[in-house]
Amino acid sequence: MTELDMATKWPMYIGGASRTSERVTPVLDPGSGLVVASVPAAAREDALEALSYAQKGTEIAANMPSHQRMRILNQASDLIRARREAFAVLIATEGSKTIREARKEVDRCVDTMHLSAEEARRQEGEVIKFDQSPGSENRVGYWQRGPVGIVLAITPFNDPLNLVAHKVGPAIATGNAVIVKPSELTPLSALKLAETLYEAGLPREVLSVVTGSAHDIGEPLVQDPRVRMVSFTGGLKTGTHIAHQAGLKKISMELGSNSPVIILADAELEAAAKACVSGAFWAAGQNCLGVQRIFIEQGVYDEMKERIVALTAAIRMGEKMDESTDMGPLITSREATRVADWVEHAQSRGARVLIGGERQGTYYRPTILEGVPTGMTVLEEEIFGPVASLVAVKDLDSAIHQANSVNYGLQAGVFTRDISSAFHAIKKLQVGGVMINDSSDYRIDAMPFGGVKGSGLGREGVHFAAEAMTEQKVVCFNL
Ligand code: NAD
Repeated sequence: MTELDMATKWPMYIGGASRTSERVTPVLDPGSGLVVASVPAAAREDALEALSYAQKGTEIAANMPSHQRMRILNQASDLIRARREAFAVLIATEGSKTIREARKEVDRCVDTMHLSAEEARRQEGEVIKFDQSPGSENRVGYWQRGPVGIVLAITPFNDPLNLVAHKVGPAIATGNAVIVKPSELTPLSALKLAETLYEAGLPREVLSVVTGSAHDIGEPLVQDPRVRMVSFTGGLKTGTHIAHQAGLKKISMELGSNSPVIILADAELEAAAKACVSGAFWAAGQNCLGVQRIFIEQGVYDEMKERIVALTAAIRMGEKMDESTDMGPLITSREATRVADWVEHAQSRGARVLIGGERQGTYYRPTILEGVPTGMTVLEEEIFGPVASLVAVKDLDSAIHQANSVNYGLQAGVFTRDISSAFHAIKKLQVGGVMINDSSDYRIDAMPFGGVKGSGLGREGVHFAAEAMTEQKVVCFNL
């Protein structure tokens, strides 16, 4: 793939074979609104066929030696690196990231695939001391890990390449077959990733990518007992629905948040302001880790507000492919309208818009609010748009109390120079990760990643996803 073949009918991959369909779903560039490609609108029968191939794929995948899994994943990583720009253009065309943001996603995907290759050799087990139990003195044995079988990977629009890699890489590393159902809005990056894996030597039955509506293909796949694990990344409402539908199978839920950052008076203020602004407006705020609620200790509130507003004013919103653009559009005009509605509702109840608050089509200006009354959706729910709220707090405990008061808990940031404050916050914050002197928006692909409460169930991060995609088997010899 050297050049993108846009504005054409893209095939999907069922058991690795490319398939077209009379019924197609258009893929739009959210910046221009133009159709850039179309993908098959798969039917229930396509999903069931993908399942039959995946059943054959489980045998093939489980029998692939670790060195072969490693070679395929490393080769795919190398190919993605070599095609960095083409992948970045694809992400920035079908999605709402700018070209500079898209390049970073490609670099992370290269790393994710490489980490997955390493994971293939790390499927460790443990010797079991059977003789600790009276009567078992003559037994020896161990436990080992094996694949679950078929993993269904359901992915969102906002990181259309790397979040697919976060499921496909560990699944291959651990000897599973995998069916990907990418977002209807951004299916192209997932399809290119699959092509790259086939080219790297992945046996075709091991991976299918089925494109189409959640209703037509998502539900039959989620409910099918042949699927042994549903690995889902997306919104809380969808995740809850899928968890109910899935029945008796493993589930992993990587859901959203409205992440808090706490800035104490002793913090390095400029660093905190920069991290908050970058974390609030990365990918136009369409980021599960995005900074949404900024709690600032009263003594430094005015100074922080000034710094945050000044940095926000410097963000260049515009055309995604322009190298000087910092922030692109939202994924659809419906989403942009929803964000505008939430802000207007907060304003009608007394919130002040310090900067931003304007929508033009799919674009929404970087927006900072203050004085938002408690209970407003902009504080309680995940906005998934470029809007952050400043909240003055009297001390750390008050900030922690408010940070914990919502039904989300993915990551939190805390800015302080005081070690006791840092450890107090680490202990009390109800989240999956606490970043000291970073915003909530800090992540590397090798760390355990996931949330508590409405932010999810289980952890990704390559090693941890790989572990979740396996079952333990005990082996015992009676000598
Ligand atoms: P979404 O929940 O609308 O959709 C996610 C995926 O689920 C899509 O592929 C969609 O087609 C599919 N889907 C919807 N209904 C389904 C059903 N009934 N059966 C099967 N599949 C179904 O999410 P989105 O708008 O694409 O993405 C944004 C959300 O994802 C945000 O809430 C964000 O926080 C979250 N997210 C979480 C993480 C994380 O790692 N925690 C990362 C990125 C995004």
